[in-house]
Amino acid sequence: MADPSLDVLIVGAGFGGMYMLIKARSLGLKALAIESAPSVGGTWYHNRYPGARVDIQSLEYSFSFDEALQQEWRWTERYASQPELLRYANHVADRFALRDSIRLETRLAGATWDEDERRWVATSDEGERWSARFLVMASGPLSAPNTPNFEGLDHFAGTTHHTADWPHEAVDFGGQRVGVIGTGSSGVQAIPEIARQARSLTVFQRTAAYAVPSHNGPLDAAWEARVKADYAGFRARNRLMRTGFGCELPPHMVSALAVSPEERESRFEERWAYGGFALLGTFYDIMLDLRANEFAAEFVRAKIRATVHNAQTARRLSPTQPIGCKRLCVDSGGYYETFNRSNVQLVDLNEAPLERITPRGVFADGREHELDVLVLATGFDAVTGTLMRTKLQGRDGLSIQEKWRPGALNYLGLAVAGFPNMFNIAGAGSTSAFTSVIQSIEHHVNWICECIAWLDTQRLTTIEATVHAEADWMAHVQAMAEQTVFLSCNSWYMGANVPGKPRLFMPLTGGFPAYVERCAQVATNGYEGFRVS
Ligand SMILES: Cc1cc2nc3c(=O)[nH]c(=O)nc-3n(C[C@H](O)[C@H](O)[C@H](O)COP(=O)(O)OP(=O)(O)OC[C@H]3O[C@@H](n4cnc5c(N)ncnc54)[C@H](O)[C@@H]3O)c2cc1C
Repeated sequence: MADPSLDVLIVGAGFGGMYMLIKARSLGLKALAIESAPSVGGTWYHNRYPGARVDIQSLEYSFSFDEALQQEWRWTERYASQPELLRYANHVADRFALRDSIRLETRLAGATWDEDERRWVATSDEGERWSARFLVMASGPLSAPNTPNFEGLDHFAGTTHHTADWPHEAVDFGGQRVGVIGTGSSGVQAIPEIARQARSLTVFQRTAAYAVPSHNGPLDAAWEARVKADYAGFRARNRLMRTGFGCELPPHMVSALAVSPEERESRFEERWAYGGFALLGTFYDIMLDLRANEFAAEFVRAKIRATVHNAQTARRLSPTQPIGCKRLCVDSGGYYETFNRSNVQLVDLNEAPLERITPRGVFADGREHELDVLVLATGFDAVTGTLMRTKLQGRDGLSIQEKWRPGALNYLGLAVAGFPNMFNIAGAGSTSAFTSVIQSIEHHVNWICECIAWLDTQRLTTIEATVHAEADWMAHVQAMAEQTVFLSCNSWYMGANVPGKPRLFMPLTGGFPAYVERCAQVATNGYEGFRVS
């Protein structure tokens, strides 16, 4: 029997689900969050591979909605590690007394829109049922692990781990022959740590990664005090940044093409010394113009050549795609230096494709690489993966799989035509992938809750994006992407890492402030582009 009294069913108890719960409760709504994992924390519960840590500074990658919370929490490092982020998530759950409204180890199997009742009827994979006015998908932009269909993978006789589904007990690589497939953000973080422990490490690389140093270390107490003296102001300044973070070193509003080679080099060096994503803001046009981008790309390639002793390895580690086109990797472990170790070898799968996994290892490069442990750092079915793995049925029995066959159609990144009263947090069509995601989560949740409050004051029960507004929004997302370098490579931003996934650029470029303003305008104009009843 479905519980008829739920106002909001929230799927996921990562930062998105937890903040949605806090806000929904503050509106007096009866809300429940269901979470398939046995813990809150989302990303930071699942991704516990060695080296896992945030790539945006923790003073910026954290909740801003509660002044006491942001004042009392003390990060120990400039870029927090996974265990610390998980502690933070648990602290939030306790501090805001969320646990009694979170059902752990409960996976949403499906949800169907009941047009007569104007409610969602949801079912867990254990057969539990709920009925809710609103369904909020906080199931995570990067939470559906992608495991490539390598021939023979099931027959590998050693141990296999996916970075996004890492065991909870410590994994001891001592004396082991380890292979890592994948050199995106997770691979770049894990590889140096594994190399320090393993007898041998073989890295199987399809696309070379740009990795910039984070210069991580203990959080500077003086900086922390300065930020905390006016945390609200710091957050407000960040909200004005295109990325929603980085206000202390904003992009330099000069073209990379307009300066002398000497000035270009010295400005790149300054940003390299600062660390992290700041490098992409050395000049305003790095992500807009391929010629400007190439200067930044070549700067990093020169760093690789200067770091990696073996010239052939350095060449193989040097990316050819535009920098930042795939998510830039922020390195705290000494990624490129790792390839100078005698126990580490690189296999370039472009020169010698991975043919199959054998019981004893990986057959690539014309030979079998014998392994005891295989680590899949193969990323995610990003942005749409969790929804596409769920049986969601909107109006007239329309399934999300059918709806999204051509790509993740949406309006404002928040809503999907044909799926009334369903909202998506940090999903396709929003800027979240290019921001500090917690900042985006706060914006999404605030917008959704204001929308629900508005419906209630208007005595309305349903809200649904129109097909027309959705089409316009999709055109806008594509047009914005065309003004950048993002379409020049095969990235998860466009679904290219998952065979058969539609190639449609999913996140919105163009900056967080413009996006926030557009969402606000829509609300001010009586939820323009939505049909309400
Ligand atoms: C390794 C890694 C590092 C990252 N680093 C950064 C960073 O430095 N900066 C940044 O801005 N972003 C980063 N991200 C992105 C990160 O996902 C977001 O920052 C943020 O954690 C997203 O929070 P969320 O609550 O939206 O999703 P998640 O944290 O992914 O939580 C979603 C939850 O939903 C649950 N769920 C999914 N489907 C179902 C279902 N059907 N039923 C029940 N529960 C379900 C999942 O188990 C998960 O716990 C990183 C992601 C990864 C994977």
